[in-house]
Parts: sequence; structure tokens; C-alpha cells
Amino acid sequence: MLNFSVPAGDLLFREDDPADCAYLVEEGWVEIYTERTGWRQSLSLIGPGEIFGEMGVIDGSPRTATAVAAEDCKLLRITVDQFQALLGRSEPFHAELLVKLVARFREAQRAWMDGSLLPRQESSAMGPGYSMLARHRDLACALDRGEIVPYLQPIVDLTTGRWRGFEALARWQSPVSGLRSPCDFLPLAERTGLIRRIDLHIAERVMRAIGSIGGTAPPYININFSAWHFKDDRLLPNIRDLLEKTGLDAHRMRVELTETLMLDDPNRALRIMSDLEAIGIKLALDDFGTGYSSLSVLHRMPIHVLKIDRTLVTGVLAEGRPRSVMRSLISLSRELGMEIVIEGVEDTETATILEQLGCNVGQGFLFAKPMPMDQAIAAWKA
Ligand code: C2E
Ligand code: CA
Ligand code: CA
Ligand code: CA
Repeated sequence: MLNFSVPAGDLLFREDDPADCAYLVEEGWVEIYTERTGWRQSLSLIGPGEIFGEMGVIDGSPRTATAVAAEDCKLLRITVDQFQALLGRSEPFHAELLVKLVARFREAQRAWMDGSLLPRQESSAMGPGYSMLARHRDLACALDRGEIVPYLQPIVDLTTGRWRGFEALARWQSPVSGLRSPCDFLPLAERTGLIRRIDLHIAERVMRAIGSIGGTAPPYININFSAWHFKDDRLLPNIRDLLEKTGLDAHRMRVELTETLMLDDPNRALRIMSDLEAIGIKLALDDFGTGYSSLSVLHRMPIHVLKIDRTLVTGVLAEGRPRSVMRSLISLSRELGMEIVIEGVEDTETATILEQLGCNVGQGFLFAKPMPMDQAIAAWKA
């Protein structure tokens, strides 16, 4: 049996591949999905201690689903021969029973595929029995059904009050539980890697909508991309495709990222950032001033926009340390040629002071809350 590591996003096997081995997950998560229904449908999420791919090994049929590493994994590979040897050593009755059970499972699976029904949803209420797998599956299905939608929050010129662009913020419009905040479902998506599909889905929808707005000074669009995207090389081709498909000018797109993307493979992350920069996309460092962010990352990363977190903004009303910090940040960003966007502006006093300190772009409930995309676009055009 062979131990090996698989990077997030790597394919382990595809539907219809011959089944030559089974896997035991030691670390990480593997997503099993099918595209037989015509779209990508998540079937299950396999975690530490669980086995997958064993059905085909037992009955010799090809794979009926695709397996992909949802995050970096450590797996143990069990070949057909090893499996058969183990099976040979067990009681004939047990081996027979196993083969019968697999046949019964196959039959049920075929009936399910033919009817192309959704997998049975475990409880949709989030009780203690509501497992991570069930939540992942609910979210993946919600994404396939188009329930994950972008809201837009305007980014505003503090001096004139004019809207300059928007930030796209994901919402789950659930027919069961109503409008749900990203804090409710994104942490799980971050955990399992589903966040990548969510980000690209949101990106496509807002890029198409914003790309269709013309005029002399059309809005730009800020899109959040999880650190996940900076661990493999698909972000650039994916974004290129989206630009082409949606017709949005790359100069109107801003990728919001946090510096946690520097944790795993900083060189790869930096390369992806410069590739994005090279096609004209601006990079915005999100949540600057919260725990992790530090000045030291700024000169390493090709950052064009600094988004100052609300926690740094709340103290600026009184003369004192927080205001001094803000003042030096603003002058530093000017020296580095970066634009500053203040997040979470909730009152006029703060907006006025920030403007006096030399910051002229902000975002916050004072100007507008995130709103449905159509509403935001109608307001822009009005
Ligand atoms: P974020 O990127 O820092 O987004 C700003 C958050 O602050 C949003 O929360 C926004 O609604 C909220 N906000 C805006 N103005 C104000 C204000 O004046 N006061 C206060 N108190 N809050 C304000 P939201 O929409 O709940 O999003 C939470 C976080 O979820 C985002 O924080 C972002 O990290 C993540 N997120 C949202 N959508 C996406 C997405 O499509 N992809 C990824 N990867 N992350 C997303
Ligand atoms: Ca953001
Ligand atoms: Ca932020
Ligand atoms: Ca945040």
C-alpha cells in the first residue's frame, strides 16, 4: 500500500475510468461528483479515515463518479491485488456478502441516475446531526440550482458622493431559509474547497452585468477570490475565459485577496498575481489592519489598492493613536502609488475626517448596503 500526497484540485479518477485501486483518506477531503446529469453534481465528501473507490475494485466495474482532491490530501492507495488478497483471506461468506451488497448498491445507483434525482437531502435544519458532508452537499446543490447570488455594494468617492464601482458579495437565496449571509456558508466552502466554484460563479455573473454597462466612466467591479485560487495555476486561464465570455474590459476588474494566500506557496501566489497584473487586472489587498496583515507584505506583493478594514476606521474620530496610524497609512500608500479604500464607513463624521486625512474612496452603510445586482445597476444608471 502506497502513501502519497495530492495537491488540492488534482483529479484522482474520472467517471468511466477502469477501477484499479481504492483509497483511504489519511488527511484532507476528497469530493466525489458526477456530470452524468449534465451538470456537476456533488455526491459526497470523503474525509480522514474514510475509504472511497472500493466499489469498482470489488466488482470490477468502471468508475461511476469522478474524485477530486478538495484540499491538499494524504492518501493511502490500495490496489486491486491487495484488495483481492484481503478479501481472499476473509470468510467466504463475508466475501460473498460484500459482492452482493455492491450489486445492490449499483442497482440503486442506476435507478437514481436514470431518474436523475438529487441525492436525498439529509435534514436541512442545522441541528447537531447536520454533518459537514450534508452541509457541503446542500451548498453544492444550491450552487448548481443558482441559489448563490451576487449582491453589490457601491464603492464611493467621499468628496463627491459619486459611485465609482462595486464590490460583489455572495448571498445564499435559499427557498427554505431565506437570504443567508456569507458568514453562514463560506467558512464551510473555504474548508472543503467549494469556495473556488462559488467565487467563479459570482465572478461570471457580475462580470457579465458590469461589462454591459457603457458610458464614459463605467464602474469597476471588485471580486473576492479565496486564497485557494492561488494554490494552483487555473485562476489566470479561468479569468481569461470569463473576460472573453462576458466582454468585461480587464481594466475594470479588481481581484480582492487577503495575504493568507502567501502562506502555502508564496512564489506561486506571487507569480499568479503578476500574471493577473500583466493582463490589466488590479489587485486589492482586503481587510488590511486585521490581525494578519502587515506592512511587510506590501512591498512583496504587486498591490494596487489597499482596503482598510473597519476595525482601523472606528478609532479615527478622536485625535489619538488610531488617527495617527490612519494618517501614516494614507501617506505611505500615496508614496507607494496605491489607492486606499476605507471599508465600513457608517457615519458622516468619520467620512469627513477620512477625507481630511487624504483618503477619498470608501465603502459602507453610510452610502449604501449591499443590494441585489439588478437594483444596484438600475441605481447606477439612474
Ligand atoms: P469583506 O470582503 O471584508 O466584505 C465586506 C463586508 O463588510 C461585507 O460583509 C459587507 O456587507 C460588510 N459591510 C459593508 N459596509 C459595512 C458597514 O458600513 N458596516 C459594517 N459593519 N459592515 C459593512 P458580507 O457581505 O457579510 O461578507 C462577509 C465576508 O464574506 C466578506 O468580507 C468576504 O470576506 C466574504 N465574501 C463575501 N462574498 C464572497 C465571495 O464571493 N467570495 C469570497 N471568497 N468571499 C466572499
Ligand atoms: Ca472584500
Ligand atoms: Ca474587507
Ligand atoms: Ca472581511
